[in-house]
Amino acid sequence: MKYCSHCGKELLDEAVVCPYCGCAVEYHAPANQANQYNQSYSGLSILGVIFAFISAFVGLIISIVAYNSAKSVGDFKSQSLAKTGIILSAVFMAASVLIVIIAFVFAFVLPSVA
Ligand SMILES: [Zn+2]
Repeated sequence: MKYCSHCGKELLDEAVVCPYCGCAVEYHAPANQANQYNQSYSGLSILGVIFAFISAFVGLIISIVAYNSAKSVGDFKSQSLAKTGIILSAVFMAASVLIVIIAFVFAFVLPSVA
């Protein structure tokens, strides 16, 4: 059984328009059911993956926030994308550290050996 969001009167489940006030009835699905049919990713999880390529550190933070918020609402799709963002950011951070080490070796260590 559902209720009109405008006048609060009890309505039939299949009602599209409220017979009491004439307002269009919004369909309020239960939270877990709504997420099951949610086909789009959360904006934050998309942003996390994008930032992983721009700034790995920012991407990591956004992805962790996106992961936790997706987890709290049971949004598995966004949760898996946020996880991808975390992994990508971690890989890019490790790669940038490696580049700094290699650059350091080439700039300071190798010339002193040669
Ligand atoms: Zn109504």
